[in-house]
Amino acid sequence: MTASQPTPASAATLDAQDPLRHFRERFHLPPGPDGQPSVYLCGNSLGLLPKAARAAVEQEFAAWERLGVEGHFHEPSMWMHYHETLAAATARLVGARPLEVVVMNNLTTNLHLLLISFYRPTVTRYKVLMEGGAFPSDQYALESQVRLHGLAPEEAIVELVPRPGEHTLRTEDIEAKIRELGASLATIILGGVNYYTGQAFDMAAITKAGHAVGATVGFDLAHAAGNLELHLHDWDVDFACWCTYKYLNSGPGGTSGVYVHERFANRPDLPRLAGWWGHDPSERFQMKKGFRPMPGAAGWQLSNAQIFPMAIHRAALALVDEAGGMAALRRKSEQLTGYLEALLRGLNLPATMLEIITPADPAARGCQLSVLVHRNGRALFEHLAQQGIIADWREPNVIRLAPVPLYNSFQDVQRAGAAIENWVAQAE
Ligand SMILES: *Cc1c(COP(=O)(O)O)cnc(C)c1O
Repeated sequence: MTASQPTPASAATLDAQDPLRHFRERFHLPPGPDGQPSVYLCGNSLGLLPKAARAAVEQEFAAWERLGVEGHFHEPSMWMHYHETLAAATARLVGARPLEVVVMNNLTTNLHLLLISFYRPTVTRYKVLMEGGAFPSDQYALESQVRLHGLAPEEAIVELVPRPGEHTLRTEDIEAKIRELGASLATIILGGVNYYTGQAFDMAAITKAGHAVGATVGFDLAHAAGNLELHLHDWDVDFACWCTYKYLNSGPGGTSGVYVHERFANRPDLPRLAGWWGHDPSERFQMKKGFRPMPGAAGWQLSNAQIFPMAIHRAALALVDEAGGMAALRRKSEQLTGYLEALLRGLNLPATMLEIITPADPAARGCQLSVLVHRNGRALFEHLAQQGIIADWREPNVIRLAPVPLYNSFQDVQRAGAAIENWVAQAE
């Protein structure tokens, strides 16, 4: 089925044919102003609450209540080994081996921990390549890392910007910049999907180009994990991290995932910040001197596991697996976002009024479409909110719409398109 004729009837048909349609019932959809479920297109900012999360947290409350400290050592909780129970599903999620992933801390914290190990500037090789206008936390993280090494951000950080008149980056331009920086380039750190434009980068090509000049290559997958099919191991990516509260529905401030390629699994010599949970578990409680990291990504852990956010995350990851994994989600996602795109294009609005800045190629984007509204964008955003359509506003004039395959329907997208259409009709 193509998205050629987006009408309420075609939306209903597409929903009826959608093999994932029942997953919507597994989430709490926030009510809109009329008390009916809103059209929630904001899963790129905060994913919805899976109904299974409450029971998962309750189980840990019950263990704590009944067992106290013994909950560390008793089924079903086994808090001692809790993080290990997330490794297999996490590895499937990002296309990695279980040894290559760990769940811990929060995203920006993990970005710092990884940069400590993988951004190792020398006198001649010290530059970092990142996106211009990267998410602010990433900008601050990189600035401070560069300063930590006694370097000036203006000299060490190189930003990629689109060609004049374009909104997104071309892979060939990224590769050319990497070649140009050559032996001065220490590390590349990009978003897997840019949070503002929704552009998905060609991570395999960028990694290859980075390695060809001797740089380490990492990705912030905040907007890619749970959104794209990832093959981090096969793409040969060195390191990555992501949050779990956006497309992974694991709750506000939820825990974060980390990936470190297998080739670094047994490199205790790699500089890192250490803590007892990254130490060889056979000696963890012997309180000995001398840090000996565990093999793999687990060797970057600092602290004992955050059981409550991880319980939510475990329940949320189980839904991804139950739906058939990222391949199944992505199939629907491409169709759903294509449908939204067809609706918006069908309005035939001049680009001087409303322009989709996300790439048109499905391989170069995830769920999200970023719509640049040249006039009265804020008014459109508020009009949508009044109609129970929850989108996301980014200064100065972008509305981000992210139909999520796990819980959004084609009829959701249809409603959003109709609301934009009637706002435009009013505004004229
Ligand atoms: C959402 C997001 C963050 C948020 O960082 P936290 O440490 O989870 O607060 C950071 N970077 C990017 C690219 C993001 O999209």
